[in-house]
Amino acid sequence: MHTDILVIGTGVSGLTYAIKLAEKSPTTKIKLICKNTLDEGNTRYAQGGIAVVSNFLKDTFDKHIKDTYIAGDQQGDNQVIDFVIREGSDRLNELIDWGTQFDQKENNLLDLTKEGGHSEKRIVHFKDRSGAEIQRALIKKVKEFDNIEYFENHILVDLITDHQTKTNHQRCYGAYVISTLNEEIIKITAQITVLTTGGLGQLYDFTTNPVIATGDGLGAACRAKVRLEKLPFVQFHPTALFPKVKGETFLITEALRGEGAILKNHLGEAFMEKYHPNKELAPRDVVARAIMQEINVQKSKYVYLDATQIPKDIILNHFPNIVENCRSVGINPLSDLIPVIPAAHYSCGGIKVDENSRTTLEGLYAIGECSHTGLHGANRLASNSLLESIVFSHRAAMNSYRDLKNNPIGEDFYLTIPNWKGQSYTNINPAKQTKNIRNQLCQIMSEQVGIFKTTKGLLTAQKQIKHLYFEVVELYNINKLSPQICELRNMVSVAYVMVNQSLILTQNKGVFYNHDYEANPIL
Ligand SMILES: Cc1cc2nc3c(=O)[nH]c(=O)nc-3n(C[C@H](O)[C@H](O)[C@H](O)COP(=O)(O)OP(=O)(O)OC[C@H]3O[C@@H](n4cnc5c(N)ncnc54)[C@H](O)[C@@H]3O)c2cc1C
Repeated sequence: MHTDILVIGTGVSGLTYAIKLAEKSPTTKIKLICKNTLDEGNTRYAQGGIAVVSNFLKDTFDKHIKDTYIAGDQQGDNQVIDFVIREGSDRLNELIDWGTQFDQKENNLLDLTKEGGHSEKRIVHFKDRSGAEIQRALIKKVKEFDNIEYFENHILVDLITDHQTKTNHQRCYGAYVISTLNEEIIKITAQITVLTTGGLGQLYDFTTNPVIATGDGLGAACRAKVRLEKLPFVQFHPTALFPKVKGETFLITEALRGEGAILKNHLGEAFMEKYHPNKELAPRDVVARAIMQEINVQKSKYVYLDATQIPKDIILNHFPNIVENCRSVGINPLSDLIPVIPAAHYSCGGIKVDENSRTTLEGLYAIGECSHTGLHGANRLASNSLLESIVFSHRAAMNSYRDLKNNPIGEDFYLTIPNWKGQSYTNINPAKQTKNIRNQLCQIMSEQVGIFKTTKGLLTAQKQIKHLYFEVVELYNINKLSPQICELRNMVSVAYVMVNQSLILTQNKGVFYNHDYEANPIL
């Protein structure tokens, strides 16, 4: 297969990019692939909404810029923060034009909510299902274009670079992909390849991310020697449901704490006032560390979120999703305490990109959660990630349009690119071994590379992950390729880079916390 543009991932970033480019250039051929179904990714689970300045009577760009910079512990890139926030409202209007519904007040103005770290109400939302609504509208829109084709159940194996072509153009030429439908490994060559593969939450035992979030784009980029940045800055959401069955957790939005839900430890004590004057509404990283501290001191597995004092109609009307999810696991948030634990939620770091989402390799872009733009600094401000995705998708699409006209590689070259070495794959995992290594990796990451780190723990993790890495290489070399081995290969590489980058950091900033360095004044 050959195409002008290959987009790997169909969340908000991949879909928005494809729509923008298809609108700009109806003759450009765009192929989208995704691991699972079109709608499965972090986007669809976003609850809160998008942070965009839209009520200019009260809010200003400068206020949002300041909030973003402060939330990022003053580590964000000022230039990036500035243009993302200023361009946000145009991009939001496009989402609306494409059919996305957002809650409105009686006067047809957008209904805005406020989240932790924001100085004004500016979160544009659709009930507590904002991501699902955005995903729905974008999928519908993408299907309108004749020049966009999409392929579900197609899994990225490796990017095609000079390594495979034995050339020295220093470019990306597309990707090798497992097609679980055709049961083969195919080569998709492309003038431009775009990674929009989302997050890496599955590296941890507890995560709000769905199963697709195994850091695949980062793993593939790392093997292609593309630069990864700031991986240690993983944001943990303070309140995910403590699951009865491992892996079956979901996020309990902080808006519930905004309405008055209180965190309590196993002794029934409200504890947040010990940690921060804003108590339950302290910044996410502070609340997550406070909860872990209580769990460690009390040797418990979780703490409780008590929402029973919130008026019933508020819970039922504002949080239908939470109520439904809680009830599905036998908890009634109107009368029961909800067991919660911090869970890996968002990767602030990722593939280094410039202001147009170009990576350090020609012909390769990265957009959205798999990228590192500099917007979030050391900690993401709530609801700034969907914003980042729509702004950078637009910029990347406009820049790709220009790139297509200047590609120095002739069409014939793509015909010379070799096929994948063995063209078949198996769905029969070397099951036990792969699962075993994956469990070990998640345990190391959760225990040594989680919310609290120590240098000793990181050094132990480094050694252990290196060992696992070689086990995975052996698995990869002697077995038929499988989706599970692909994921594990990515996870172990990303984990190793994250540990190495963590060991270089000598200061606690934002979500990064090493006990061996000067305590963050807040905890
Ligand atoms: C529970 C939850 C709540 C959130 N709430 C908010 C919020 O309110 N506001 C906000 O701004 N942000 C929120 N976020 C973060 C935000 O949703 C994500 O950062 C954003 O949606 C990421 O979009 P994306 O397009 O980069 O990736 P995703 O939406 O994760 O899409 C990734 C895509 O890549 C594909 N993919 C992955 N690996 C491969 C592979 N190997 N081969 C082929 N395809 C692959 C997947 O199939 C998928 O299509 C939340 C996240 C979660 C998990």
